Amino acid sequence: MKTFKYTLDKSSKKYVCPKCQKKTFVKYLETDTGHYLSDYFGRCDRETNCNYHNKPLGNNINTFLSSDKRQLIPSYHNMDLLTKSMRAYDRNNFISFLKTIFSADEVYSAIRKYKIGTSKNWNGSTIFWQIDNHNRIHGGKILQYNSTTGKRMKDKKNKALINWVHSILKRRKQLENFNLSQCLFGLHLTNQNTKKIAIVESEKTAVIMSMFKPQYCWLATGSKQAFKLEMLLPIKGFEIIAFPDKSEYTDWNLKAIKLNKIGFRIHVSKILEYTNYPIGFDLADLITFHREKDKSFNNST
Ligand SMILES: [Zn+2]
Repeated sequence: MKTFKYTLDKSSKKYVCPKCQKKTFVKYLETDTGHYLSDYFGRCDRETNCNYHNKPLGNNINTFLSSDKRQLIPSYHNMDLLTKSMRAYDRNNFISFLKTIFSADEVYSAIRKYKIGTSKNWNGSTIFWQIDNHNRIHGGKILQYNSTTGKRMKDKKNKALINWVHSILKRRKQLENFNLSQCLFGLHLTNQNTKKIAIVESEKTAVIMSMFKPQYCWLATGSKQAFKLEMLLPIKGFEIIAFPDKSEYTDWNLKAIKLNKIGFRIHVSKILEYTNYPIGFDLADLITFHREKDKSFNNST
């Protein structure tokens, strides 16, 4: 085995990063003595947000940690697991909510399209599987909704309920290691896709919009931060329109400008930004909001 003069500290010890001041800094040490180099030699773990990496001079340096290798190999779920989850829609809160807006036929075709699952994690919870354009299953995100309002449900600490299929399997000792590397929700639909791609943040909104505006292929990032190169790379060849939640326009637009410089074709919609809707409002809220208004209008006439 090759021995390096200097190496990143393989113990899990983290220090304060000289750049971002977070405790995510791995220092370099001299292999022979085990002594750290000065406080400025090291690598920040926040690769995307900080990216500080100051290597000692020379070639005989190990800049790689074994944990890096694990991160590079994504894990996938097998298709059986997904297939088994595609049932019990009569007790799936999100599906019940969809049926208050769309016909049963429309809802079932959306279920088949996005391969939406039902979980027992919370009674009536929904699984949004992240399946890529090679039909590999990157993960299953479990969310809980209110079946009447379609809003996310929260725990006692007022945190929206979220879990992952791999976390549950690990807890049950049915899975040992799982390296979650997320992909866009709906990415599998881009196989043989000829439509313009529309991107939103939430899975729920992508599913709703796919029925409301089927002329687009609707995908979801799953979080604000996931609107980034690694996630969007598989759809680089497509024309893309992004619909950020209200108040996220500036952030997504800046990212899109950078991505367009390297060949992406992303247009970021301002449709929600210059409205009086509350912060975080998205396209699905817009539709349900107007539906409620229509209902009260019809009731009063
Ligand atoms: Zn840092």
